[in-house]
Amino acid sequence: MKDTDILIIGAGAVGCAVARELSRFRLRITAVEKEGDVASGTSGRNSAVVHAGFNNRPGSLMAKLGVEGNRGFESACEELDVPFQNTGKLLVAFDEEDRNILERLIEQGKKNGCEDLRLIDAEELKRRLPQVGGIGAMISPHTSIFDPFAYCVALYENAAENGVRFYFNSPVTAVERDQAEGGFLVTAGKQIFRTRFVINCAGLFSDEISKLAGVDRYRIYPCRGEYYILDKVADSLLSIPVYPAPKPGIGGLGVHITPTIDGNLIIGPSSEYIEDKEDVSCTSEIMEKLFTEAKLLLPSIERRHIIGNYAGIRAKQAPPEEGGFRDFVIREEETCPGLINLIGIESPGLTASLPIARMVRDLLSARIDLIEKEDFQPRRKGIVRFRDCTEEEQNQLILSDPEYGELFCRCQKVTKREIREAIERTPGAKSISAIKYRAWATTGRCAGGYCLARIADLLIRDYGMKPEEITLRSPGSELFRGEVK
Ligand SMILES: Cc1cc2nc3c(=O)[nH]c(=O)nc-3n(C[C@H](O)[C@H](O)[C@H](O)COP(=O)(O)OP(=O)(O)OC[C@H]3O[C@@H](n4cnc5c(N)ncnc54)[C@H](O)[C@@H]3O)c2cc1C
Repeated sequence: MKDTDILIIGAGAVGCAVARELSRFRLRITAVEKEGDVASGTSGRNSAVVHAGFNNRPGSLMAKLGVEGNRGFESACEELDVPFQNTGKLLVAFDEEDRNILERLIEQGKKNGCEDLRLIDAEELKRRLPQVGGIGAMISPHTSIFDPFAYCVALYENAAENGVRFYFNSPVTAVERDQAEGGFLVTAGKQIFRTRFVINCAGLFSDEISKLAGVDRYRIYPCRGEYYILDKVADSLLSIPVYPAPKPGIGGLGVHITPTIDGNLIIGPSSEYIEDKEDVSCTSEIMEKLFTEAKLLLPSIERRHIIGNYAGIRAKQAPPEEGGFRDFVIREEETCPGLINLIGIESPGLTASLPIARMVRDLLSARIDLIEKEDFQPRRKGIVRFRDCTEEEQNQLILSDPEYGELFCRCQKVTKREIREAIERTPGAKSISAIKYRAWATTGRCAGGYCLARIADLLIRDYGMKPEEITLRSPGSELFRGEVK
């Protein structure tokens, strides 16, 4: 049995942000995650946009925390060394009805505290983005893009550096009252944790965790969004996210085209209620529809630009017959003191993750004294990205370590040194996907055809792993059966 003051369930953006926020205080904090790494759920499968906050109902938590999150996001990314780019965003009107929707959105945005939203006419749209169709658009200058994997990894590393203990491959299967101490006994994987507070950040499974703790009042309806990934054509085709005017009741923001921080373009997401909370497969009908809708926004995209696809699942509280958005639930349950539930954290959950964490901190501070640590370290340094350096800096790096001179991933120009750092800086980050999301190898056009074997070879030779121990994600996703010769 392990004792802790706070047990956080789930290491997505929200769980990691809560862990990092609470690590400022003198508390024993533990985070348990059912998968092998952070960002394994919805936080790794989304549009990666820092929303401005005009889409949400005034007065809702989504609006309040979303706008607050947008304002503080850039400085948090600077503090945590996470790639971030303020691109702005355009919402395109194709007819008068769309234009009316956009006018209403601007009004709603103003009520939420969003600044500098305005409509532009067809002429200005043509001047700014000649490649995009439409009769006008709305500009949101404070929308940005970022790297959600790097964000979660950074929050996790910083929280761990400040004392939070993380347990991966540890699914929570029981949450019981500790009759003797008044807190909880939580079974996660092979461990039992005794804790005063449980913070339920389990995303799609937050309803089930709440039920395990005896609060059976929530239901999450999974709603899938599928995406295409296009090659590195963002610079030549589109450098700013472009969305259609959102149609009421669809439960998403409409199929949009968004540059990623890495220079790819993504098309999506669709919006489709499904049964299975973990079914992240992509379907040919939806993919076809996505391409057709994206062509309306950006006629110059071509099928040959497509290099991959993925899907993410919204943790919706609104059932299919209702559609649209229900507000975030962030509360300590009256009927279960000590259980802080975070339910229905769908978009803009990434944008709002830091204010959500601060709200959890405030809920806790109403119950216990939070004493700040003097040695809290707010800053964290990421892995140096060789390809983003100037030629002179690259030469310096190679002089400092010849492994910077050895390219492991040719598509994304990732060096052997960066792969090694991804493996060494996080204990246990030895799965291919953990390395991928830290160093960004295997994500290019060849989808790992060139670098995967090199990474596996490095793990075997320098880190003593057997081929059959190398997994894609967690145990159960082993890539090799053994050595051939
Ligand atoms: C298609 C799509 C597009 C989106 N685009 C954006 C966007 O551009 N901007 C934005 O701000 N937001 C966006 N969002 C929303 C955003 O991705 C989510 O709000 C956010 O990622 C939620 O984070 P989370 O930590 O609550 O959930 P998750 O990332 O799902 O994390 C929950 C974690 O809990 C773990 N877990 C579950 N059950 C258990 C258990 N029993 N034991 C232990 N661990 C468990 C899971 O494995 C998971 O890692 C989008 C969402 C979708 C689906």
